[in-house]
Amino acid sequence: MSLYDVPCAVTADLNRYLSRLDEDDRRDEAIDERTEELMADGGEYAPFNPDNLAEAISEVDIAEIAKLIDAGKVSEVGAVLVKQVRGYWEALARNEAERQIDNEIANACPRCRGRGCRHCDEDYGRDD
Ligand SMILES: [Zn+2]
Repeated sequence: MSLYDVPCAVTADLNRYLSRLDEDDRRDEAIDERTEELMADGGEYAPFNPDNLAEAISEVDIAEIAKLIDAGKVSEVGAVLVKQVRGYWEALARNEAERQIDNEIANACPRCRGRGCRHCDEDYGRDD
């Protein structure tokens, strides 16, 4: 019997560790992707539709804006505002994306963790 036929505990642990890393990576990627979708034009978290812009404007760091205007850097105000508004909505969108993805992972087919297998269609048919 060859040494290579013996299942190695270290290899098994390593594989388990790597597959968890892989799942973490896939979770991060899925959250990034979902965040972008939520923030896309027409999305619920689109930073620059009028309602969302109004909400974010009321939350901006007005001291930073005032400082720029005081210093005569009026031309920089727009870029700083856009950055702050985008940051405000990105934080909210990321929270929502995390909630959605973790929910999807928790409800994913336990056999393939949502990668897709015949049991997904049978037992965990998606609505979309
Ligand atoms: Zn499956």
